[in-house]
Amino acid sequence: MIHIYFAAKDVRWDEYEAPLRKALDEKGLSYSLSDKCDDPSIIDYIVYAPNGPLKDFSPFSRAKAVLSLWAGVEDVVGNPTLKIPLARMVDSGLSEGMVEWVTGHVLRHHLGMDLHIHGQDGVWRDYVPPLARTRTVGILGLGALGQACGEALSALNFNVLGWSKSKKQLDNITCHSGEEGLKTVLRSSEILVLLLPKTPETENILNIETLALMPKGAKIINPGRGPLINDDALLAALDSGQTGHATLDVFRIEPLPADHPYWAHPNVTVTPHIASETRSDTASQVIAENIRRGEAGLPYLHLVNRTAGY
Ligand code: NDP
Repeated sequence: MIHIYFAAKDVRWDEYEAPLRKALDEKGLSYSLSDKCDDPSIIDYIVYAPNGPLKDFSPFSRAKAVLSLWAGVEDVVGNPTLKIPLARMVDSGLSEGMVEWVTGHVLRHHLGMDLHIHGQDGVWRDYVPPLARTRTVGILGLGALGQACGEALSALNFNVLGWSKSKKQLDNITCHSGEEGLKTVLRSSEILVLLLPKTPETENILNIETLALMPKGAKIINPGRGPLINDDALLAALDSGQTGHATLDVFRIEPLPADHPYWAHPNVTVTPHIASETRSDTASQVIAENIRRGEAGLPYLHLVNRTAGY
């Protein structure tokens, strides 16, 4: 019997219990699954969410792995009580949602939709937007989400440039890496999408110097993590017109405080960390597959590199 502890908020349990049981049953596993844990010493797998109650992993003496429901693991990766493998979430439903959100916001800027949505004032402005094939979109982060968004944008004919830590070769994305690669992507990107994890290396990656490299009036779209951007630098770039608009889904402090300048800035769109989320039906299959692998002695899917921090 495998003991699985669902260590996330109660509201998530209602959503996840049925699909998780279904996915575990389909794997033919014999298990107990609960969102309560009276005896940590019998737990084999911990299904984890950073907003749940669990912060100290040390009582889980026989646990084999922590399986995160979230893609971003910055709040748990450095936990000194966590000494067993940590897997993050790569979920087709999460990717699907991110592709839709990113594509929508890129198209808003590409097509200049605001001109008509906010400018219906009796003036006939016959501005015809350019075709996507003339527009370069940069994506910082070419992981599960960055690649999915890059593929979708490329299918719409955008010229897509991407940047990642390791050098990649992808069919429809011109890939860059390293410091010079970052500069190349920034210099060409009229629209830039941030899909990097938050790590010590990526914090403040958009700052005064890097924002200044971009074409004047470039648009920033950040569904990655708030600390990727130096907020003071972005506000200064927006005020000077160097940055044309910022669509921000994630922030250093969430919820974004009501008096934060982003709320009132005419060239900032705030969305409340809703770009996408893990979907219980598809994510349950990933969790069940990882438990099957753990029991079969196979390597886990989507293992976090604890040193790299993602
Ligand atoms: P992955 O781990 O699959 O991809 C991360 C990418 O970032 C990889 O391409 C990686 O490079 C690159 N990267 C990491 N560090 C560096 C660095 N120092 N320099 C250059 N590139 C770097 O993550 P996902 O695509 O699954 O998710 C990305 C992020 O999206 C999450 O960490 C999370 O913060 C955010 N997110 C936001 C959501 C929202 O609703 N707003 C929902 C879900 C996730 P390499 O490929 O070489 O390893």
